[in-house]
Amino acid sequence: MFDQRRIEDYVDEYFYKDAYMKAYRVGIDPVRGQDDWETSSLDPILSPLMKRQPGRAKMLRKKGADEPNPTKLKRKCKTISCSRCHQERHNVKICKSPIKNSKKNVSTINLSFLLVVMSLVIITLVICP
Ligand SMILES: [Zn+2]
Repeated sequence: MFDQRRIEDYVDEYFYKDAYMKAYRVGIDPVRGQDDWETSSLDPILSPLMKRQPGRAKMLRKKGADEPNPTKLKRKCKTISCSRCHQERHNVKICKSPIKNSKKNVSTINLSFLLVVMSLVIITLVICP
């Protein structure tokens, strides 16, 4: 079920016990406590005066210039295209290309003409039987 691989294959030699023993073979000197630190004749250094800034405190970290900001939208420099003539660099509001008659327009014109003719025929039949 599990591969019988050695963990040493995935760890750098720096983290081996032999490397640790070799690095600290001289020994580790203990760090003296704060009571044993040397004192100076100068005044102690005080922490800077903190003044509360106006406004609401920011909860989020300021991100670096190379980090992506998901809340900021990027401006896309995409060329616009017309939905009527499908050419670029203008839209349908300022389109100056002539309207081409499509099959749909022709069929609607023919249908309306047929309706007018039929109504005239019906009117003439009603008036002059
Ligand atoms: Zn157009």
